[in-house]
Amino acid sequence: MGIEVRPLGVKCNIQCRYCYQEPQRDAGNARMMYDLPKLKKAVEEAGRAFTLFGGEPLLAPIPVLRELLEIGLRKYGRTDMQTNGTLIKDAHIDLFREFNVAVGVSVDGPDELNDVRWAGSLAKTREATAKTHAAIKRLCEEGFNPTVIITLHRGNATAEHLPRMHEWLRELDAMGVKSARLHILEVEDDDEARGYALTDDENIAAFMGFAALEKELKNLSLDVFNDMRNLLAGDDTKATCIWKACDSYTTRAVRGIEGNGQSSNCGRTNKDGVDYVKSPQEGFERYVSLYHTPFEYGGCKDCRFFLMCKGQCPGTAIDGDWRNRTRDCRVWFTMYETLEQEALAEGQTPLSLDPVRKQVEDRMLAAWLSGSNPDYYQAVLDARAAAAAQHHE
Ligand code: SF4
Ligand code: SF4
Repeated sequence: MGIEVRPLGVKCNIQCRYCYQEPQRDAGNARMMYDLPKLKKAVEEAGRAFTLFGGEPLLAPIPVLRELLEIGLRKYGRTDMQTNGTLIKDAHIDLFREFNVAVGVSVDGPDELNDVRWAGSLAKTREATAKTHAAIKRLCEEGFNPTVIITLHRGNATAEHLPRMHEWLRELDAMGVKSARLHILEVEDDDEARGYALTDDENIAAFMGFAALEKELKNLSLDVFNDMRNLLAGDDTKATCIWKACDSYTTRAVRGIEGNGQSSNCGRTNKDGVDYVKSPQEGFERYVSLYHTPFEYGGCKDCRFFLMCKGQCPGTAIDGDWRNRTRDCRVWFTMYETLEQEALAEGQTPLSLDPVRKQVEDRMLAAWLSGSNPDYYQAVLDARAAAAAQHHE
């Protein structure tokens, strides 16, 4: 489980027009205060390396960051941080070096391609974007080789913008950025962010273009495609949470620690602005019911990619209702289809077309019904070994 430490909750110095944390801020639940002793105690007891997260974690004063990062280095050898990069100063760089911090920067592109990450006025927005880009360059020059998270929307990933985005990714690659995670914009039906969302066809065109671009990049990997290739190959051991049957009441991949030390779930499941307390018990009913529910009722019945996709992240479910499959189903289905063809062309048998798929599905369903959620890697190996033995009899 990843630990996300949010010293100032979802407080942020910019106001991205699509931010999935807006419901919390709208509901007045953005904590502005922290209780350092409680926060430190929770971090000490976290039991594993953590990510400083927000909102914007660098809004926390340097002495507070230092105390948290000191725990990170002493107990876990490192700390990760996810930031919009606009506030990074010399003192932060020193902290990153002293406390072995791996930095991830959230940014959507150069210049006007990043305008949706709004900072109050156009001039302030462009200024903030320039600071973010200067921070990425500086981090690379100082040897930190950051990762970036890019959200795709109308401002950066329509056909007219893609050539510039590709150029920018080539520049990041040459600079030494290690990986980029591409996110589909998360929107709710009544959400202001809806106006920034790409259509399914535009998302598919964008993803196809990035998949082709990735082949020419030297350092920078686009991790979503690696994930999907591994999943199709039958290996889910390193897959990210969006493909791993996440329970929205416990979000195994993410445990938030709020500024007052309270434990919370992944913010993507927060649809009504309330940070519900984590449930003590996991449940995988969503995945059993998606497997059996016909497509027209929001399920995934008979989808050959179900093992790999599982209806995807519950935070992206249709109507904001975790019981449904993701609203981005067509995008992911098309991408899996494309990568499936790629695997076939390389002489592999993707799990989606493997005769053992049904046996593996049955094992996963039995596990979910009994309240556990194992990797399917071992089940695939067992089923393939049994099939090979039968073949030789
Ligand atoms: S809600 Fe989505 S992003 Fe959050 S932990 Fe679950 S799968 Fe991951
Ligand atoms: S591709 Fe669509 S139908 Fe298939 S598992 Fe994913 S969300 Fe469900």
